[in-house]
Amino acid sequence: MNILLVEDDAMLAAAIRERARQEGLALDHAGDADSARLLLLDNAYSVILLDLGLPGESGLSLLRGLRAAYNATPVIILTARAQMSERIAGLDAGADDYLVKPFEFSELWARMRAVTRRSEGKTVPLPGCRD
Ligand code: CA
Repeated sequence: MNILLVEDDAMLAAAIRERARQEGLALDHAGDADSARLLLLDNAYSVILLDLGLPGESGLSLLRGLRAAYNATPVIILTARAQMSERIAGLDAGADDYLVKPFEFSELWARMRAVTRRSEGKTVPLPGCRD
């Protein structure tokens, strides 16, 4: 599993990166929308973990642009904003799932497995299949 994390909170990004390393998952980190787009030009990701509140262009705007460009990479929104309107806007913009901060890493990994499984057309989880 190759993950793109788009998150401007350096401490949270470092924590997610460390946990991904422990799980043996490859992870690239972008701190804003422009850096994310540059990474997306050169890399194919299994899943994008997207913070909505980024400096400059918002995560929602980045997501809308990706979907408008027919980029179908699964997206999980990570947001501190628990308001239902934010979540609905994210899902309407093309996100596959969302997680409200603070979250448990075990739930994040489980949701990543679920959205990547769906994007690969596997609706039934395979026993022992972790990616
Ligand atoms: Ca943020």
